[in-house]
Amino acid sequence: MTLLAELTAALGPGAVLTGDDLPVRSMSDASETGRHKPLAVLRPTTTAEISAAVAICAHHQQTLVPQGGMTGLSGGANPAPGDVALSLERFAGIEDIDAEAASITLRAGTVLQVAQDAAAAAGFLLPIDLGSRGSCQIGGILANNAGGLRVIRHGMARDNLLGLEVVLADGSVISDLGKLVKNNTGYNLPQLFTGSEGTLGIITRAVLRLRPLPTGRCTALCALSDFDAVPSLLKLARTQLPGLSALEVMWQDYFALMQQAEGVQLFSPVPPLSVIIETESTNGSDQTADFEAFLAGALEAGILTDALIAQSTKEANAFWAVREGHRLEQIMPHLINLDISLDIGRMGACVDACRNALHQRFPDIRVLFFGHAGDGNLHIAADQPKPGQDDPTDEVYRIVYDLVRDAGGSISAEHGIGTLKRDYLSYSRTPEEITLMRLIKLALDPDGILNPGKLL
Ligand SMILES: Cc1cc2nc3c(=O)[nH]c(=O)nc-3n(C[C@H](O)[C@H](O)[C@H](O)COP(=O)(O)OP(=O)(O)OC[C@H]3O[C@@H](n4cnc5c(N)ncnc54)[C@H](O)[C@@H]3O)c2cc1C
Repeated sequence: MTLLAELTAALGPGAVLTGDDLPVRSMSDASETGRHKPLAVLRPTTTAEISAAVAICAHHQQTLVPQGGMTGLSGGANPAPGDVALSLERFAGIEDIDAEAASITLRAGTVLQVAQDAAAAAGFLLPIDLGSRGSCQIGGILANNAGGLRVIRHGMARDNLLGLEVVLADGSVISDLGKLVKNNTGYNLPQLFTGSEGTLGIITRAVLRLRPLPTGRCTALCALSDFDAVPSLLKLARTQLPGLSALEVMWQDYFALMQQAEGVQLFSPVPPLSVIIETESTNGSDQTADFEAFLAGALEAGILTDALIAQSTKEANAFWAVREGHRLEQIMPHLINLDISLDIGRMGACVDACRNALHQRFPDIRVLFFGHAGDGNLHIAADQPKPGQDDPTDEVYRIVYDLVRDAGGSISAEHGIGTLKRDYLSYSRTPEEITLMRLIKLALDPDGILNPGKLL
């Protein structure tokens, strides 16, 4: 039998899409850099079907690209010519919420927001939260070790992982869906697959930690005169706000643009730096007085120059809408996205150096800075508006990554490597580390069928 006939026999006709039935979205993730339709899109509905599909592909030496919600920003889910895509979209749903173990067991295709809502309905917080929550899936989140908005309090995706089920490159299944917090029995296998970007196995199910549902949130939008005040603000917030759940920073030009795009006027004039600070409480107590006292102290100490406290969820959402910047791509049509990690003490100088170096090379480039400063994660959005020029992406990457390497940072804080950052991995990893990664890949996927050309 041919490959497609075998796959159709194993999964059923509706689960193997080809030709005109191939969805356009199977070509590219949100980086919009994918140029090829896959040979087929597989849409299995159980772990057994995923296992069968991978075994058939392995038998035919057929390359496979796992696809989640396609919201990735590094080209990791984009098929190369001849790849088969394996979509997790039909293997979705929550299998269990265990109130005593404070855990949730989910299928990989579950959309984050669906999982968050189910956790909230059961009285819990699923602490992973990203701007793409309406589309990204649990499998994609774990495969990318996504970060997001509340890492400062709850950690990255891997910090919330208790158990994982994975289909390996030969179709065999490793299933560790236990809820144990402590399990020191050798290598931590679930963590091996977290952040592996679909190159070591297909994540099929996961157990994640739940936290108490916040009973209250305080959110403030603060104005600062320059970045030098941010480390002091962070230090103060860490000591005085035990429920600190976000500290997000936006440089002046980013804030001005996004404020206009959202049709709001929060600060006028726009300060050199704007920061969102948020705290969560879980015990029903009113933390407003402590929050206000913290802000008053920061104002008095000259760390802040102004602060707006959200008086309602609607007002808090308006702050967050500016930070999340969903209209960025409309405003910057040739957007080059960078996602770097830096020691907070070096972030301000690195931003200045990046801005200067980019403007020196590309005088009319627009470059905006914002990010999760509380975790040392900076996003850079660059746009070279003049049409007809050579694609500046590679040069922009190199200019920034040289400076990031010199500052001891990482070229990917949370978006992963995929194809877009693959050729720059050595900026952040030593040759010995890359060799070890290749050995791990070789051990788990000797024929290189899982997501080839990604990450390594
Ligand atoms: C508006 C917006 C905001 C965002 N904000 C954030 C943010 O704050 N923080 C952040 O970290 N990211 C953010 N992202 C990026 C993206 O949402 C995350 O990387 C997310 O984890 C990707 O999940 P996905 O299901 O869409 O995965 P996809 O894009 O489909 O795939 C991502 C990678 O995972 C692999 N993969 C997918 N599913 C599986 C699986 N079941 N098993 C094995 N491998 C798999 C793919 O092959 C690919 O390599 C944002 C993106 C957008 C568009």
